[in-house]
Amino acid sequence: LAKEEGRGCFRLFSPVIERRSFERLVLETGLRGALERNELVLHYQPKRRIATGDISGIEALVRWRHPALGLVSPARFVPLAEETGLIVPIGRWVLATACAQAVAWQNQGLAPLRVAVNLSPRQFADESLLADIEAALAQSGLRPDLLELEITETVVVENFERTLPLLTALRERGVHLAIDDFGTGYSSMALVKQFPVDTIKIDSSFIRDVLDNPDDAAIAEAILALGKALDVAIVAEGVETEAQEAFLRARGCDQIQGYLFSRPLPADEIAAFVASYELSRLKALTATAVGP
Ligand code: C2E
Ligand code: MG
Ligand code: MG
Ligand code: MG
Repeated sequence: LAKEEGRGCFRLFSPVIERRSFERLVLETGLRGALERNELVLHYQPKRRIATGDISGIEALVRWRHPALGLVSPARFVPLAEETGLIVPIGRWVLATACAQAVAWQNQGLAPLRVAVNLSPRQFADESLLADIEAALAQSGLRPDLLELEITETVVVENFERTLPLLTALRERGVHLAIDDFGTGYSSMALVKQFPVDTIKIDSSFIRDVLDNPDDAAIAEAILALGKALDVAIVAEGVETEAQEAFLRARGCDQIQGYLFSRPLPADEIAAFVASYELSRLKALTATAVGP
């Protein structure tokens, strides 16, 4: 401690700020080589259709296996990757890996599952995005309609003239498009009309207190009504309880994603999860078919 007090030049900064900028430095330095060192890994979170119980798809979520810090969440390094531009090669790797994994699950005998990949604004500014997506599809052999791209409202609003033709081209190719974190950005109803989207994901911040907070409930209901009016599927993110699911079911929500159904899992655990889930559904079906 005496030694620390001696470092007068650091007294200007609060210990918190000092620690944060130090962490940033460590992360930024490490992130540059993380791809080459094979430290990035994808986890996958399934979504479920409320009405039928089908698994409607699986979202790929990146993690960083840091040699000293352990598993680092994307919330801590994706913003940094965007600032530094590293998200472009990282995003390319995510696309290729997720598409290859979706095909690998099929080869293991699972029914085809649509895989969703998050794209950041910075990737849309890069010329290579369309080519990267085409390459991921071609190299994996994944059917384009089994790929879904999740983008935020900001992506579309910030560069509408550039992104609209790109997204239209992707959709004509059969790729599915979802608006992620809906309601948190510069949402515009007109945007949803002009923009060729298959799915809207209600941000988890509106779901968390949807049963207790009338404002959150009103927003969730408005988004569900919008989805119905425009014939766009609605996914609720961050569903953790049966009560939240019941609220959403009663209001016609199509799909849920959240810890209630499954946490994000490593690729090899997905096969087991899907297989045992399908088996339990089959058993439930046979039980009702045979009757008491
Ligand atoms: P997101 O795309 O909105 O993903 C949903 C986040 O909510 C994930 O956090 C997921 O693990 C978490 N989550 C899911 N269900 C629940 C729940 O029931 N309760 C709670 N509390 N959380 C739940 P994660 O994996 O930490 O990812 C955070 C964000 O990082 C993502 O938000 C996405 O914006 C970004 N991200 C993740 N992977 C990628 C990627 O490959 N590329 C880009 N550009 N961004 C990514
Ligand atoms: Mg997402
Ligand atoms: Mg989201
Ligand atoms: Mg979110």
